[in-house]
Amino acid sequence: MKYVTLGKTGLKAAVVSFGGIPIQRSDAANTKAVVDKLEQYGMNYIDTARGYTVSEEYLGAALEGRRDKFILATKSMARDKESMARDIQTSLNNLRTDHIDVYQIHNLPEKQIDQVFGPGGAWEALEEAKVAGKVGHLGVTAHSADALAKMVELHGDKIETVMFPYNIVENQGVETLQKAKALGIATIAMKPLAGGNLEDWELALKYIAASGLMDISIPGMGSPEEVDRNAAAAEHFGPLTQEDLDKCEAIRKELGTQFCRRCGYCAPCPNGIDIPQNFLMANYARRYGLADWARARYDAMPYHAGSCVQCGACEKRCPYHLPIRDMLMDVAKVFGR
Ligand code: SF4
Ligand code: SF4
Repeated sequence: MKYVTLGKTGLKAAVVSFGGIPIQRSDAANTKAVVDKLEQYGMNYIDTARGYTVSEEYLGAALEGRRDKFILATKSMARDKESMARDIQTSLNNLRTDHIDVYQIHNLPEKQIDQVFGPGGAWEALEEAKVAGKVGHLGVTAHSADALAKMVELHGDKIETVMFPYNIVENQGVETLQKAKALGIATIAMKPLAGGNLEDWELALKYIAASGLMDISIPGMGSPEEVDRNAAAAEHFGPLTQEDLDKCEAIRKELGTQFCRRCGYCAPCPNGIDIPQNFLMANYARRYGLADWARARYDAMPYHAGSCVQCGACEKRCPYHLPIRDMLMDVAKVFGR
């Protein structure tokens, strides 16, 4: 496994590290097996979040006795000082540790930046926790290129890590990520597989490693087999070949920009529709030749794309401004309901 220094934090992290979203669909025993594999391969950066339901707790239990072998990162959606101070303490308790290496503001939209970094904002709680030794380094995560640009421009002197989507089909943050790197801010690629839309995970991870733009990527991993798979991919990193570049171009042509990243920010739908799950099943049916498999799972879901009443509430929350209503109508056409 190759390691890189995470900018001005000085932390040394594995180029392919661990994203903890899938842990919330897992259990304590499986989480321990995943962490065993991470330790075996030296994939030492673990990212989770207050918002990933049980992820912090399961990871905390799995890290008992080996906490110091890992760099622990988590994040909170808190925007004010008091809530952030509470969340930091909850994270420390859940992760069963007295210090978290990287604590991040989770998915900060442009309109909340001034609040978070202003008086009484969440950043104050993070700085106090850092002084108290409860937190090592402070970072931000975002889904919007405008938000990332504003944060780096206004607060790049304070921010130590940024986490942003970057992959074969998403380059909207490139200019700001270059600026961040020049400021010594560590760059962490979230959504390396574009929310599950990229089938060729070896190429997807190699692409990010070869970019020179992102220090590490953190694919979500929910099973020991997925850790094996990603660790094996990291063994074959190197410059992109012409064949790789041609494949990337073909993927870009096929996917375009209007695809769901499965971030879940559009929820809740008042009609109970699991929006990303509907898109996922349609993708399986359309792209991967799994029509029968996908239809069975689609039929088993309690609410389908066809029950969308077009209220538009979800679209206001989608950070990628997807035309969810139109996209759901297409899904309903695929499955006929
Ligand atoms: S537009 Fe449709 S999917 Fe979106 S919140 Fe309204 S009912 Fe749900
Ligand atoms: S529709 Fe938008 S907000 Fe909802 S999961 Fe997909 S990308 Fe995220």
